[in-house]
Amino acid sequence: MSYPRQFKVEPGTQVKLAELDPAFKGHHEAHAAAAAEIEHYSERLRVLQELLYAEGRRSLLICLQAMDTGGKDGIINHVLAAMNPQGCRVAHFRRPSPEEAAHDFLWRAHRVAPARGEVVIFNRSHYEDVLVVRVHQLLAKSVWSARYERINEFERALTEDGTVILKFYLHISSEEQLARFKERLDDPTKHWKISEADYLERRFWPQYLRAYEEALFRCSTERAPWYVIPANHKWFRNLAVARIVVERLEAMGLKYPEPTVDLTRIRREYHAAAAQ
Ligand code: ATP
Ligand code: MG
Repeated sequence: MSYPRQFKVEPGTQVKLAELDPAFKGHHEAHAAAAAEIEHYSERLRVLQELLYAEGRRSLLICLQAMDTGGKDGIINHVLAAMNPQGCRVAHFRRPSPEEAAHDFLWRAHRVAPARGEVVIFNRSHYEDVLVVRVHQLLAKSVWSARYERINEFERALTEDGTVILKFYLHISSEEQLARFKERLDDPTKHWKISEADYLERRFWPQYLRAYEEALFRCSTERAPWYVIPANHKWFRNLAVARIVVERLEAMGLKYPEPTVDLTRIRREYHAAAAQ
């Protein structure tokens, strides 16, 4: 089965995250065996992003959500490394600033959504407003529970205007998270990534899973599907996401735009100048 179909949350279906294997790695034994395939999709990403940029009519929005250490930074690195920085951007969603908090919750997402021709990756996203807000009861249930529909309307508006939306939940196990925390503790170059809050959040793992399951159920739509990516193996996670992005971009039928100038005349002038 193709990765887009295998990992897509079919609209209207209830996913049980505990039943999905975070260590899945497809038919490849290990990273080395997948290297050529990974390289192939990176090259396709490069070509397709240039086409999207050249066409300048449509855009791509990738939303990344995960538990801490889930690999959002790794995906951003992998996907954007394949692309031309001109035309790509990352938007990081942290605790809302006073200005952001003074607006409706979608305001900050809308402001940083992609312009025509652009690829934008949301590192966390407007989904935090039904995830962390729900888990920590930052707002009344009546407030956050109305947001799923608002999110669907927002995403519908973007897709109708030419933005392709792909949403990825990077699925790691709680044991894998612990191992990654340990790795950070043991590696001085990773100490800057450690925050106490991340450890404390582990206590809320089951509540987060439930909040994610509801977001996946209520907000995976044909226009803006959610994908649950097995992410214990970093290389598999990179391969799966790249493949899904590539297949979606390929389905857009991107084309270089027609020239806006008279090429025959310019060629004639070029030859005349060259002959002098
Ligand atoms: P890193 O991998 O660098 O830790 P990160 O996305 O975890 O990346 P942080 O600055 O550590 O970045 O954390 C951002 C925090 O902001 C997260 O704990 C997230 O849940 C929180 N946050 C994001 N959006 C909201 C929101 N709408 N309301 C409250 N908290 C939010
Ligand atoms: Mg963090």
